[in-house]
Amino acid sequence: MKFDLERIREDFPILKREVNGHPLAYLDSAASAQRPLAVINAESHFYQHGYAAVHRGIHTLSAQATSDMENVRDQAARFLNASSPEEIVFVKGTTEGINLVANSWGGSQLQPGDNLIITEMEHHANIVPWQMVAERTGAEIRVLPLTDNGELAVDQLAGLIDNRTRLLAVTHVSNVLGTINPIKALVAQAKAAGLVTLIDGAQAVMHDKVDVQDIDCDFYVFSGHKLYGPTGIGILYGRKALLDAMPPWEGGGSMISSVVLPTGTTWNTSPWRFEAGTPNTGGIIGLGAALAYVQALGLDTIHQRESVLMNYALDKLSSVPDIQIYGPPTRTGVIAFNLGKHHAFDVGSFLDQYGIAIRTGHHCAMPLMRHYAVPAMCRASFTFYNSEEEVDRLAAGLTRIHRLLGG
Ligand code: PMP
Repeated sequence: MKFDLERIREDFPILKREVNGHPLAYLDSAASAQRPLAVINAESHFYQHGYAAVHRGIHTLSAQATSDMENVRDQAARFLNASSPEEIVFVKGTTEGINLVANSWGGSQLQPGDNLIITEMEHHANIVPWQMVAERTGAEIRVLPLTDNGELAVDQLAGLIDNRTRLLAVTHVSNVLGTINPIKALVAQAKAAGLVTLIDGAQAVMHDKVDVQDIDCDFYVFSGHKLYGPTGIGILYGRKALLDAMPPWEGGGSMISSVVLPTGTTWNTSPWRFEAGTPNTGGIIGLGAALAYVQALGLDTIHQRESVLMNYALDKLSSVPDIQIYGPPTRTGVIAFNLGKHHAFDVGSFLDQYGIAIRTGHHCAMPLMRHYAVPAMCRASFTFYNSEEEVDRLAAGLTRIHRLLGG
């Protein structure tokens, strides 16, 4: 099937904008992807015609909103190939999903002297919650290092595991290097040693099909806003047996079975026991529309189109003078780089003058920056709605900066 880029770009009205007198080249989807009209309209339709508080109401609108929300849970379960919708917890995003597991599973399971393994390429969202729970419980953090070509040193995993190791938490795709980690093999190795596994899928779910049963992980987390959906909503997949055994994290309405004074309150079943309070219903509806949009386009189609664009971008950018590109040759979504001696912020501000939006900074991955001994990097991200022309403009912009400011 021919990929009709012009037609697809029509779905994203913001892409028609001008910035600083130039057409916008939005190369920052890894931070937050733009939303198609289908998502914007679904949220708007819900607020105009279907909005009411869920769960507690007997009236028509409340019952309908509840069933709409539960339909999205079913949809998310099918999207990840979970074995049941009861393995799907609505969270604010990847960050909250990981904090939930760290606090609930980690807080109840980790003992002084236990250890858990994270990696040097993690986003802070998959580092700091573990550091906080480790500090509280007396567990130790071990780190699987990065090789210089931007891959995990997987051969060092066995050496980190001993009989007190409890968990491996690893990202599926690096948000800086675009490295696609061999998570199936990592999970198999971790499982063989009796570890619980958590995969941060924030940079993976939008680029290729994810099947949690095939990966065989215990937890998988992602955010709606990187999958063309709303902010403030995400999904935590948890294996049913583990969720059922975990204590609630936040207390409040909806997560209880019965509340008794002064003590003796009992919990709802999972996943609802992890969803205290009134949920982000509009966000959930928008996420449902985003999942439907991505599935209608087809993750295979998306994957193929993005591979072509990524190869084109790697090729084009490598011809920019004095550019340093970080990460392995096979990657998805992002290209991180620095230009000569220029600070990433200067490069990013310069490109913005030409309407080109990229991300600059430490990308919430300070340990990875330290590995490469740089304070910051530029990161351009590419998705199915980007064009070869936008890549050309990025390469031309960088070449111009080099010509004007030197290397
Ligand atoms: N993990 C990775 C790999 C990410 O790229 C991000 C977002 N930059 C997060 C976690 C955190 O996601 P959120 O801010 O949506 O919770």
